[in-house]
Amino acid sequence: MSDEHTNGGRIKEITSVSNPIIKDIRLLEKKRHREETNSFIAEGMKLIIDAIDSGWTLKTLLFAASHRENDNVKNLATRAVTGGADVLIVPEKVLGTITRRDNPQMVVGIFERQLLNASGIKPEAEDVWIALDRIRDPGNLGTIMRTADAVGAKGIILVGETTDPFATETVRATMGSIFAIPVARLGEAEFIDFAKNWNGFVVGTHLAGSVDYRAPQYSGRPTLLIMGNEQSGMPPPLVDVCEQLIRIPQVGRADSLNLAIATGVCLYEVRRHALALEERESRI
Ligand code: SAM
Repeated sequence: MSDEHTNGGRIKEITSVSNPIIKDIRLLEKKRHREETNSFIAEGMKLIIDAIDSGWTLKTLLFAASHRENDNVKNLATRAVTGGADVLIVPEKVLGTITRRDNPQMVVGIFERQLLNASGIKPEAEDVWIALDRIRDPGNLGTIMRTADAVGAKGIILVGETTDPFATETVRATMGSIFAIPVARLGEAEFIDFAKNWNGFVVGTHLAGSVDYRAPQYSGRPTLLIMGNEQSGMPPPLVDVCEQLIRIPQVGRADSLNLAIATGVCLYEVRRHALALEERESRI
């Protein structure tokens, strides 16, 4: 193992999967360890560069020894060390065990988590925030974060006990949007209080909603869009804080839409006016 000190972070070469540093990094697959260390894993060079560019703190950069001569990797490693991160040069199989992938990305970053609390949410103008009630599925959460980013929503509020936004599977499903969409976590009672004081439109999605999702006027004020749990939908206390309950029409045998799909359908309607404007502006 080589150990090189610089003015910023340190560069080490590690060859063994059983090295204690690697063992510690592998523990990041556990939610408790991610919380205790305030860290999470993100994979891929472009995503890591974008994250650093947007101000996220990179704690450790790992890259495959086979790519040590790659100029992009070298530049990123220099940037990481200068910024104070440790850099670990490892065999590809180590990256495979950390990311649990047969064909791992050649560059992996360990970042500091960022979570907002209620006071960090300051809606204005036509801002859209999405509240997810007890969301369970990491793929759904990642997909919703990616869609929220695509439509220009301002952030996600996780309500109650939810899947972890920093789980590797969720981060992967966001395709980089984890670094673009702020996430807040609120208990149910705290959220109800927050929603009651929302200075705008509080709209819930419900299979028994009496209004078509295309009917409300979404422009002109901030929107808080509430989505129900995958299994049980939205509980009565959340229903009670909604100014309106909207429903996406369905024909056929399906009981309901998948949560991430329903969120996407609603978000494109909530943001229709703003997206049309933004698209026109970008063509000028
Ligand atoms: N069995 C649950 C129920 O009775 O509500 C189904 C929950 S559904 C899989 C998960 C969430 O997706 C719902 O709580 C709602 O937010 C949204 N959703 C799914 N299909 C919808 C539809 N047709 N209209 C409005 N919201 C829908």
